[in-house]
Amino acid sequence: GKQRRWTQKSKELSGTNKALEHFDIFYKPVYKDTWPSIRISLLTTNKYCALINNYGDVERARDTLSQLGACDILEEASEALQSTQSPDAEAGEGFNFARETTKKSTNETDDAAENDEVEEPPTEDEELLTLLRYEKNTSLDNFVPVKRVYTEKELIEQEDLEKSTYQSTGVPINIIHESPVQIPKDLGVYAFNKGDTGEFPAPNSNNAGKLDYFLMDGASILPVIALDLQPSDKVLDLCSAPGGKTLVMKQTNLPESIFCNDISGSRLNRLQKVLRSYIPEDVTDDITLKQQDGRQLKNPQFNKVLVDVPCNTDRHVLLEEDNNLFKSGRTGERLQLPVVQRDLLVAGILSCIQGGSVVYSTCTLSAAQNDGIIQSALEYIWQETDVNVAVIDLNHMAKAFSKTFRFWRNSRYGQLVLPTLSCNFGPMYIAKLKVLE
Ligand code: SAM
Repeated sequence: GKQRRWTQKSKELSGTNKALEHFDIFYKPVYKDTWPSIRISLLTTNKYCALINNYGDVERARDTLSQLGACDILEEASEALQSTQSPDAEAGEGFNFARETTKKSTNETDDAAENDEVEEPPTEDEELLTLLRYEKNTSLDNFVPVKRVYTEKELIEQEDLEKSTYQSTGVPINIIHESPVQIPKDLGVYAFNKGDTGEFPAPNSNNAGKLDYFLMDGASILPVIALDLQPSDKVLDLCSAPGGKTLVMKQTNLPESIFCNDISGSRLNRLQKVLRSYIPEDVTDDITLKQQDGRQLKNPQFNKVLVDVPCNTDRHVLLEEDNNLFKSGRTGERLQLPVVQRDLLVAGILSCIQGGSVVYSTCTLSAAQNDGIIQSALEYIWQETDVNVAVIDLNHMAKAFSKTFRFWRNSRYGQLVLPTLSCNFGPMYIAKLKVLE
């Protein structure tokens, strides 16, 4: 009785171990030499940023955060963006992959080459130093190699998913260059410098009970920056709960309205709670909450759409056994993710008016769930609708933020923030699409 149950249980790998094994099989061939560094970073505490609440005590927040040694990461990025060359210099290069364009422009004039410089990833020494600092937070159990537990069938299914989703069916995907995104002037986002593993204390609240700042993974601001919000924008936040990115949008004071959708009622409640802790009720008229399956939306009513899809959630599945997507009971749901992601992105595109833009984001390193979804959604749109969509190049945004985040250089359509010990943000994939007139 009892003993047998125990034996059976000990054979089954935990969700976290299964996830680690999965990543070793499927991410290592993609990220090659950088995989060990990404892997150890994923297993370590991630780095947060503090988003200043404009309805809290802004001065106190800025003082507290600077005294801790944190800096406003948007100030640097803003300066870098202002010196970015005009888009005309690079225009007219349709049908190129982003990375090819990057290579090409480094051969141009000295000026262009200078602008294209992406900061080098940290050296091994820097990594090692940070690793030593992190050691106290890291459980050695996480580094024990795990045994292969996949059945042949599971492996084939997963391999198909990682590879074939990513194989082109020949639909031309155009990458266009637009004016650089602008950093919203009302946003304040603080983070510790590269290599500094400082931590933020819980925020204080002001007399009205509103908290001074909101803590989140630093890379989570990038999808909102990529939206390039403007005063008359009507925004759709298709998968909005629990509302981290909604809060960033609201803090810009820019959009005319934000329509927050999510399929989960309990998660929408969490979003409402977040809004209540940060925003006075009399200034939330511009925010609408709606619970429905985002895949059903198809009326072009918005000019900015954020599609922040459910994904592998790499960090979560490596560290939390609760609700772990890699538990054997959830294999079907997990293999279904790319289909859901594609359908959500297609719905996002169909909800966007001509001339508007759509940002797609995930927090996974899975290429099938990143570039692969951009490709399959655009193929679907091309084959099944009259809508015309192009990819907007985000290289300039990555360059502007290269002091804070480490970006992968080989994404085709978007930008991917790679976790590294000295700047342990992400993973976060961001791609931007434009619905053409
Ligand atoms: N944007 C959020 C933020 O910044 O806090 C995080 C979004 S989370 C990565 C993905 C969300 O998608 C989950 O809240 C989940 O409930 C929602 N979701 C999953 N399937 C959906 C669907 N079919 N339609 C709409 N939302 C969906």
